[in-house]
Amino acid sequence: MAHDFDLFVIGAGSGGVRAARFAAGFGAKVAVAESRYLGGTCVNVGCVPKKLLVYGAHFSEDFEQAQGFGWAVGESQFDWATLIANKNREISRLNGIYRNLLVNSGVKLLEGHARITGPHEVEVDGQRFSAGHILIATGGWPVIPEIPGREHAIGSNEAFFLEQLPKRVIIVGGGYIAVEFAGIFNGLGSQTTQLYRGPLFMRGFDDAVREHLSDELRKKGVDLQFNADIARIDKQADGSLKATLKDGRELNADCIFYATGRRPMLDNLGLENTAVKLRKDGFIEVDEQYQTAEPSILALGDVIGRVQLTPVALAEGMAVARRLYKPEQYRPVDYQHIPTAVFSQPPIGTVGLTEQQALEAGHEVTIFESRFRPMKLTLTDVQEKTLMKLVVDANTDKVLGCHMVGPDAGEIIQGMAIALKAGATKQLFDETIGVHPTGAEEFVTMRTPVQR
Ligand code: FAD
Ligand code: NDP
Repeated sequence: MAHDFDLFVIGAGSGGVRAARFAAGFGAKVAVAESRYLGGTCVNVGCVPKKLLVYGAHFSEDFEQAQGFGWAVGESQFDWATLIANKNREISRLNGIYRNLLVNSGVKLLEGHARITGPHEVEVDGQRFSAGHILIATGGWPVIPEIPGREHAIGSNEAFFLEQLPKRVIIVGGGYIAVEFAGIFNGLGSQTTQLYRGPLFMRGFDDAVREHLSDELRKKGVDLQFNADIARIDKQADGSLKATLKDGRELNADCIFYATGRRPMLDNLGLENTAVKLRKDGFIEVDEQYQTAEPSILALGDVIGRVQLTPVALAEGMAVARRLYKPEQYRPVDYQHIPTAVFSQPPIGTVGLTEQQALEAGHEVTIFESRFRPMKLTLTDVQEKTLMKLVVDANTDKVLGCHMVGPDAGEIIQGMAIALKAGATKQLFDETIGVHPTGAEEFVTMRTPVQR
């Protein structure tokens, strides 16, 4: 049966755009529906604006450190409105680039909410289209727990558009977004409190990284509290907010920001008209080729809740386009060596297994660890320390994991990811000539294992 399109993609975010462009490039007739913003979360309320705010927040430290190098920096002033306006301008430019990318690759762009009305049918603003395959790439949405007064709290979507920099902010959560925004607000001058419900934040990261980052955030002035969670929020007569914690303590703030995870975006998507199944946690269930329980419907990216990172959504988009329209080039996504950076201050870079994961997987491990004061700080009073750690299989000598907390960790870990993917041994690391003087060279000069 002839359809209007070979592939109908719902969502012009990281994964959807990649799949659409490449499918069109392979000769398929493709449409993309986007209800909100071109480029999706990453471009509009995620990676890109976040990184711009992180850069902005760094200047306070840079001004301070410049004095150690002989610079007399006058009294500095920060204007939130300027940063947000400039950030918005850059995002508009990127939205335009995404539009061109789609249109120039021959994809039909439909700007509106898409609802699936059958296994091969999608409706956008009252118009129906048929397609051989439908790809759900609708991403996620912040979750704010159901507590009294939750309507007074914001999530990451709102944080990017606040009219004013809050004088006092409470950030709830102990994951990526919480630590990144703790660094942003703290660096920009807000009195910043971060609350995490458990004994140690950044679950899933190596314990040494988790402890090191908590020490560094506290040194920088973030009031980081563990085993702390909000029971209720009340708006005060002066417009400020009062958070009552589960242990009865009260905290006052101008802004309470929840960074407590994201749910799949399935609102009014029409999944009831299909055989698509959800996992217990609500994300769409797919097989290893992104196929849902409905044969004509695929899903990828944040909405399948595997690894919520842009490069992973991109890789999945590429895999889907190839699988459908260029099967001879199809290669499965390697989920084993996904490098990741957390743009906290200082940042985390990590790839491969944590020490705990390696032990649980049955490896006998040798651990190398180094802690040092970055050279740039030696002419300043700043006592920040960098952590670098290698997890090595004691029997095969293979490097199983690389972990870092320190300047440029994200930049450094990208190269380490290639080494790990190539199966590098510790001996190969040792035989690699360092680049001097850098922080990165420490990864090839750690000689003495840590005694456990
Ligand atoms: P999205 O990019 O979310 O795109 C989904 C699109 O679908 C959206 O544009 C949405 O409007 C649209 N849509 C939804 N429903 C419909 C519908 N029914 N009809 C039409 N359109 C619809 N990842 C990194 O790798 N590095 C980072 O530094 C990073 N920082 C982040 C910071 C924040 C604050 C957040 C929230 C996320 C961050 N991420 C980061 C994660 C990254 O943004 C996501 O993993 C990535 O955007 C997922 O891509 P996606 O294609 O699955 O979905
Ligand atoms: P995360 O899953 O990273 O962290 C959520 C945090 O909130 C955890 O500390 C979790 O605690 C806590 N939490 C969950 N539910 C509650 C609750 N009901 N009450 C109190 N605390 C709660 O989610 P984020 O929202 O930070 O980010 C979503 C995803 O986006 C990330 O996982 C990441 O994949 C992606 N992202 C990537 C970035 C990057 O690449 N640099 C940056 C930002 C986001 P617990 O651990 O105890 O469950």
